[in-house]
Amino acid sequence: MRESVLRTDVLREPLKIESLELLRSGRFFLVRARAEGLEGISEAHSTVMRAAWPIFTQKVAPHFAGRDARDLERVFHAAYLANSNYKWQGLPFWVCMAAAEIAILDLLGKASGKPLGELFGKVRRRRVAVYRASGNRGNSPAAEIEYLRKITEETGARAIKFRLGARMRYDDASTKRDLELIPLVRKTFGPQMTLYADANGSYDVPMALRIGRLMEEHRFAFFEEPVPFDYYDETKAVADALDIPIALGEEEMSLRNFRRIIETGTAQVIQPDLMYGGGLMRAVKVARMANAAGLPCTPHISGGGLGYLYVAHFASCVEDPGPHQEYKGSGETFPVQCPTSTLKSENGMLTVPSGPGLGVTVEGAVWKRAAVVSG
Ligand SMILES: [Mg+2]
Repeated sequence: MRESVLRTDVLREPLKIESLELLRSGRFFLVRARAEGLEGISEAHSTVMRAAWPIFTQKVAPHFAGRDARDLERVFHAAYLANSNYKWQGLPFWVCMAAAEIAILDLLGKASGKPLGELFGKVRRRRVAVYRASGNRGNSPAAEIEYLRKITEETGARAIKFRLGARMRYDDASTKRDLELIPLVRKTFGPQMTLYADANGSYDVPMALRIGRLMEEHRFAFFEEPVPFDYYDETKAVADALDIPIALGEEEMSLRNFRRIIETGTAQVIQPDLMYGGGLMRAVKVARMANAAGLPCTPHISGGGLGYLYVAHFASCVEDPGPHQEYKGSGETFPVQCPTSTLKSENGMLTVPSGPGLGVTVEGAVWKRAAVVSG
């Protein structure tokens, strides 16, 4: 947990961050880091940033300008401690920190000519298999099957995740849907499809065991958040009683809690969110802890913008990111150009860009509408 993850040997000379700005362009927020005529960017989880931007401008950005980008890991930790910022931690703070971090990582990549994965050691894979996740609840099993068919056909994905339960509460109607849908998805997609399901904390322990056993019977590959995310003891009780791996982590923002989840066997698939959890450096630390314990670390994606791209870079460099990474449909993504990847899932595989940094260029139309956000 304490080991550094970011290489500091990629540049010989200091790279002083001249500015770190937040910009808004239509519904998108971007962060731009500048140094020596270079620019690093991130798409800043625009839906969160719409509400969280004063935290970025007041509490986060001032701690990065003027610093050496090579020192990002130390500067990042100092920003967490500065002016008691740690008291502000939670999703809005960590999303702002992640947006700052990713823009500076992109800048470091541009300055060194290395793709993001190289900054964390080395790029181990350039092609990652994807899974498609359905965000539906409350529709009929037949309608959900039709939807799953559509999203897998569009992407060629050979893995699916769908939702169970009523999201952080129990109800009979959703459970009836769950009990029908679990066998029906297996029957429809056949034995080769990898299946995951996410209950978003809808059950208590006895119902989680009943649903989990049905998933085992139909050879599901993981069961995500069977009980509320911070019910650690109950999650462990479910994990101990079932054979199916339990997945957890998208709401987790404490590295110490991640360590505990891994050490105690509370979950077997570790799922930090790259934005909610405070960026790639923290997620890579979580991955190293999980992998050291023999567990895969498969990130959760949030935000429609460039989340899939951050996940792709993460999966390119960690030892074991699990067999499939989440991929959203291309409809809602942030407009970028990329010479080294189509950025689309083809036959269920996404190619990780190999250009410097994130390996993408933001389209000119976005910059035309962009204005700096301050205050
Ligand atoms: Mg989830």
